[in-house]
Amino acid sequence: MNVFLRLATDLLKLLFPRLCNACSGYLVRGERNICTTCLRDLPYTDYHLHADNRAAKQFWGRIPCKAVSAMLYFRKGSRVQRMLHRLKYNGQMDLGLELGQLLGNRLKAGGSYADIDLVLAVPLHPKRERLRGYNQSQCIANGVAQCLNVPVLEGVLCKHRSTSSQTRKGRFSRYENLKDVFEIRDAERIRGKQILLIDDVITTGATIEACGQVLYDAGVESLSIAAIAFTE
Ligand SMILES: [Zn+2]
Repeated sequence: MNVFLRLATDLLKLLFPRLCNACSGYLVRGERNICTTCLRDLPYTDYHLHADNRAAKQFWGRIPCKAVSAMLYFRKGSRVQRMLHRLKYNGQMDLGLELGQLLGNRLKAGGSYADIDLVLAVPLHPKRERLRGYNQSQCIANGVAQCLNVPVLEGVLCKHRSTSSQTRKGRFSRYENLKDVFEIRDAERIRGKQILLIDDVITTGATIEACGQVLYDAGVESLSIAAIAFTE
């Protein structure tokens, strides 16, 4: 790089510094979206090492899951909440990819995700995806699939109508509300396969349960689940 270009780059960085998406501190060279300190200190769950973790227990008696994991604890006002908010609303697609890679590396180390055939993301309503320009869970799924070295499948698990606001509903009515929202196109592509379904946050699990139901109805062999965060 010539000296003028380097000066111009440094000046741009000074005027528009890149900030960590978790703590808002300055990023230095070599850091992508999250600073080294945050990467070290984020509230990791280590659920990938424990089959009967709290996220997995959420699905007991609701839908059969081969493995369930969430990488981070989600607390209001935390760095995790800030990151996921930026991924969702600020167009930070590379942050999704980086988080997906962090998650994927953990799943790989844990060993319970070794037999996955395909990675799928929880879909957004097509209208919302058009407005946002991307599906944040798809960005995460791409990162996970890279690490596990398996294909990611888009356009098979689809969402086809808007749901009413879920915030004031209990777990059962949330599931009822979501039951007919997801559909499968091209079922042959997933029949008999071991599926890993990716979401950004596991809260009540209702969305994943509804997705899982249509996946089993379409003939998948098994369902595993992974998310970036888990709401305690
Ligand atoms: Zn940071």
